[in-house]
Amino acid sequence: MPVAFTLRSSAELEAEVEQRKKAEEKFRNLLESAPDSMVIVNEQGIIQLVNAQTVNMFGYTRYEMINEKVCMLMPIRFDVLDHLKSKGMQNDSSPGITKEELTGIRKNGEQFPVEVCLSPLVTEEGLMLSAAIRDISEKKLMEKTIREANINLERKVQQRTAELERKNKELEQFAYVASHDLQEPLQTTSGFVQLLHKKYHGRLDPTADQYIDYVVQASGRMKTLIKDLLDYSRIGRGNESHLVDCNVIVREVLADLHNVVVENEVYIKTGQLPLLHNAFPTELKSLFQNLVSNSIKFRKPGIKPVIHIDAQQINGCWQFSVKDNGIGIEEQYLERIFVIFQRLHTRSTYDGSGIGLAHCKKIAELHGGKIWVQSEPGVGSTFYFTIADGH
Ligand code: ADP
Repeated sequence: MPVAFTLRSSAELEAEVEQRKKAEEKFRNLLESAPDSMVIVNEQGIIQLVNAQTVNMFGYTRYEMINEKVCMLMPIRFDVLDHLKSKGMQNDSSPGITKEELTGIRKNGEQFPVEVCLSPLVTEEGLMLSAAIRDISEKKLMEKTIREANINLERKVQQRTAELERKNKELEQFAYVASHDLQEPLQTTSGFVQLLHKKYHGRLDPTADQYIDYVVQASGRMKTLIKDLLDYSRIGRGNESHLVDCNVIVREVLADLHNVVVENEVYIKTGQLPLLHNAFPTELKSLFQNLVSNSIKFRKPGIKPVIHIDAQQINGCWQFSVKDNGIGIEEQYLERIFVIFQRLHTRSTYDGSGIGLAHCKKIAELHGGKIWVQSEPGVGSTFYFTIADGH
């Protein structure tokens, strides 16, 4: 059978060589214009081609790098090369790119962090591997600076928290000692002023009578303030937490407030309340007592108070609510009212010392929770507090 040979003319061959040259030049231009250092190595890891960026980055001339092992620039692992080779040979459709962070070594021995993107390259001379190398010294420095700044910040926050806790304890101790020690001389003063009032009222001139009245009233108020302050600093002191049924606590509170509830025709609705495993019953009672009596005290004139007490489990915490239809609170005061001795009304409008909600806040925090209020002036308020019952 005759064999058919296709003879190519020399012109055709020349054209093909020219075309290949052009393609090669294009490839080299592309390599040179790449923003990263580009190194092409053969299957044995021998450098075949490098671009200008590689010369700048590593400090070798092209001549010093060509035909040397790529390990002189960075310790590329051979298993990575093998993996990429097999990908290239399988003609895998996935790009088969591996990204690694390695240590580059300059000619002068200086080491620096690099990010290397390795990918297989099928060429006429066989399978090659291209490595795009990026100097990430600045990125690493930035990461280190951020890490150190975070550690510093965390340390500072811890120090400040510890300092604040210590100062808080000192202040509480001071409030306790001061209010405790003030009680005795105040008892004596108010006892004698009352005696003075009882024995001499009407026997001195009217101005003296008025002055004595003022002192009696003021010392009475001071007694209440000091007792409140002492109670406040005693919250959680030396008490043990145990199993508490909130339904029983609220029932006791309502029994204690029976007269004021009847007097003001208050309607109280209570939902199913939880059983808490680690709670302070006296403190919890005081919390409910404060909220319920405030709801009655700050009722809307001419409208019968309606109070709704409820609880629901949210994110593993119990969230209690005490809702009223009272006078409400303006938005700008919603946080301020929880600060000790902060009141929004004069004593002549509503009686009180402004310590009740500070008590409530401390009690909620004692139970690992918090307290807040939502309110609409003229419509009513809902006080919420949470108790983390897992401790
Ligand atoms: P006190 O009741 O002695 O004034 P609190 O600390 O209990 O002190 O309350 C602080 C302030 O918060 C009150 O003076 C009042 O203005 C406001 N407040 C508290 N509870 C309510 C409520 N249920 N409705 C409207 N205002 C309230």
